[in-house]
Parts: sequence; structure tokens; C-alpha cells
Amino acid sequence: MKLVFLGPPGAGKGTLADLYARKYGAKHFSTGDILRAEIAAGTALGEEARALVEAGRLVPQRLLGQVVANRLQGVGAFILDGYPRTLEQAEFLAHNPAIAPDAAVFVAVPEDVAVQRLLSRLVCEGCGAITNVADIRDGDDCRECGGKLVTRADDETETIKRRYEVYITETAPVVAYYRAGGDLLEIDGTGKPPAVLARLEAALKAFRPAAHDNG
Ligand code: ADP
Repeated sequence: MKLVFLGPPGAGKGTLADLYARKYGAKHFSTGDILRAEIAAGTALGEEARALVEAGRLVPQRLLGQVVANRLQGVGAFILDGYPRTLEQAEFLAHNPAIAPDAAVFVAVPEDVAVQRLLSRLVCEGCGAITNVADIRDGDDCRECGGKLVTRADDETETIKRRYEVYITETAPVVAYYRAGGDLLEIDGTGKPPAVLARLEAALKAFRPAAHDNG
């Protein structure tokens, strides 16, 4: 299945996408991860994106659209996490049959829960694995690859606020867009990752995309 994951910053899209992709053999693409890798590698895209990502602003579609299309081309089952974030991006996917999603998954969490997750999040510099300060001991390294665990440059209070504002103005309409098309699955993103995964599995089982219904 081709899925896009939507939700506010801190909803747990990345963690959930990773769990689902491992279990079902889908490919997981995160535009945030792609952009951070480009920034770390100092590519032309990374240089253009750096200040925007660090300020919690959106990277323009003219920079991102083709990158996303190239990655998804020919991939039968994918989860795209962090894209689309604007109506322009949603329409870009919809107009490219090879990469158009079968459904959008909206991971819902209250703002205070999401902000608390972001403030206590650590990511591995090496493999991008996500963890939380509550789940590790001081000085621990990444359990997946032994890499160093760091706080993301955009996980500080002011930038989190900006990302939330951007989410409300730019991305909430994308949720409405998929809902109106009958292609939206809404799941409760609170609680531990395995519980959220179970909700996603149940929702997918019950789901029949309206657009693909033959009556
Ligand atoms: P989160 O969902 O926790 O806010 P992400 O890792 O998905 O974080 O994204 C981090 C940053 O990367 C965003 O704040 C934005 O600057 C940039 N970004 C990611 N995806 C997109 C996108 N689809 N369009 C524009 N900018 C994006």
C-alpha cells in the first residue's frame, strides 16, 4: 500500500512509520530525514534548506517535489512521512499516478503531549533512530548502531512553536483535503508506539479508500 502520514510535529509519525515499515516490508521515506541528510552532506539542496529547517519553516516545493518523486518512483509499498505538508504538495502527489497515495493516515495527539515528546526527543546522529530521554541512561549511545544521541536543531521551544503554527496554517488543510476525498484514516497517537501501531493496523483493516471503491 502507498500511505502518507500526517500529523502535528511530535505526533510520532516517524516512529510509527518505522515500526509499520519494518513489520510489513514497506519502504519508509521521511522528508525531514532526507533534508537533514542533505544538510549534513552539504549538498546544494541542503544548503538552500538549512536555515529554513532550523527555523521550523517549510522548504519550498520547487526544491522538494522532484526529490520526493525520484525517491518514490517504482516503489510498490511506501510510507511517506512528513509529506505532503501543503495543499500544493498533496496535489503534486495526486497528479502523479505512480506515486499517488492509496490513503492518508492522520496521527492525532493533543498539543501538550506532542510538545513534551519533542522537548525530550533524542535522535541518533548515525542512523536517525528516535529515542526519548526517559528511555535511556545518561551517556547511552544508540541501541541500533552505537551512534551518538543528540537533540535535533529544531527541537527547542521557539522553533517548536513555529512548526506548530506552520502545521495549523499549512498542513491542517491537507488533513481536510484527504478527509473530503474519503481517503483519510484517523488514529489516536497517544500512548506507547506498539499500542499506536495496533490502532493503525485495525484502522487499515477496516479501511476501503472511497476513490478505489467500485460500489
Ligand atoms: P516534524 O514532523 O517533527 O516537525 P520533520 O522531520 O518531518 O519534523 O521535518 C523537519 C523540517 O523539515 C520541517 O520543519 C521543515 O522545515 C522541513 N520539511 C520536512 N518535510 C517538509 C515538506 N513536506 N515540505 C516542506 N518542508 C519540509
